[in-house]
Amino acid sequence: MIPALMPNYNRADLAFERGEGAWLWDAQGRRFLDFGAGIATSSLGHGHPHLVQAIAEQAARVMHTSNLYRVPQAERLAARLVEATPFADTVYFCNSGAEANEGMVKAVRKYHAAHGHPERFRTICFDGAFHGRTLAMISATGNAKYLEGFGPPVEGFDHIPFGNMNAVRQAITKETAAILIEPVQGEGGVRPADLRFLRELRAACDEFGILLALDEVQTGMGRSGKLWAYQWAGIEPDVISSAKGIGGGFPLGAVICSERVGEVLKPGTHGSTYGGNPLACAAGNAVLDVILAPGFLERVDRVARYFWRGLLDLAAKHPTVVSGVQGAGLLLGIKLVPEVTNSELQAAGVAEGILTVAAGMNVLRVAPPLVITEAEVDEALRLLDRALLRVTPSQAKAAAK
Ligand SMILES: *Cc1c(COP(=O)(O)O)cnc(C)c1O
Repeated sequence: MIPALMPNYNRADLAFERGEGAWLWDAQGRRFLDFGAGIATSSLGHGHPHLVQAIAEQAARVMHTSNLYRVPQAERLAARLVEATPFADTVYFCNSGAEANEGMVKAVRKYHAAHGHPERFRTICFDGAFHGRTLAMISATGNAKYLEGFGPPVEGFDHIPFGNMNAVRQAITKETAAILIEPVQGEGGVRPADLRFLRELRAACDEFGILLALDEVQTGMGRSGKLWAYQWAGIEPDVISSAKGIGGGFPLGAVICSERVGEVLKPGTHGSTYGGNPLACAAGNAVLDVILAPGFLERVDRVARYFWRGLLDLAAKHPTVVSGVQGAGLLLGIKLVPEVTNSELQAAGVAEGILTVAAGMNVLRVAPPLVITEAEVDEALRLLDRALLRVTPSQAKAAAK
């Protein structure tokens, strides 16, 4: 008989009762170091007092009123995001990453339609991308596994190899509205785009009058050590999507636009009942209080570099298991040799007391809360070292001893 909770996930047999900072406790009192952060989402860790208080106070005052009325918490959060994001002029709030990407793709299509080019509705996407699970976003994702059985893909998404500028130029047609890219592919294997490639995309977009749309759902809100990962490339996109870390674990998504893109979504063109409600935006404002506090992002960058060096040492120590380390900021990937799977290493991590997340291309994704300390990184490295030893093929293990 089917479980009452739909079995559409492969869940580990673990359930957590309580969390504090980077730590989680299960019902048996076992403690885990959470270096998955609920898939790069619990950016302030668990039970952050400022976020908890903001949510509790707003919940008691008023949770939801709908977008029939003004929402001061959303106005404030939008103004702060615009202020902190150089290219941005206006923000639309929704509830998840897929929904933010839907809004972003609707905006870029509407932009061209509003400028007399309704035929420009196609978006160039990249192999290995992940943009979410709605009908349109599985088409933007393009992975055959996610499309299977759901009928014809939604029209208007063209896929080309990640990082290949010749392919980009060949794919641009009179129907191209936008290029959509993750600055670091998350689900696809923690694969960063070359900063030069991002700059060349910007130039190609300018040359052909198309829009640069960045999916910053996983990379944004400080995870890279800057507020947005694209800022490392020194470019300005036309529109970006955000979700995951933006609510620190409370469901919230955003489409952050330049004026020329944002102005086309006039009343009646797009919307969401929950989107940007007082409670979600109180959470968003509390997260922003922490992330924009002086020195916070610099500290994320410093801890990330410390972690990176430690992972390189681990890779050097376990050459029969690890083939490389990749990523940016606190979105890091341990790439494994073909003989060992990322799910084996992930399970070995659980056995040692550390939570991580598998990603594509046999990469183990490590995405801790942004508030971790160097001491917690040291502990993570110690646990990962033991997990790596667990999955080391026995011959290599004997040789290493
Ligand atoms: C997680 C993710 C999404 C989808 O977000 P949901 O909140 O699960 O809908 C989209 N894009 C990227 C880059 C993601 O990492």
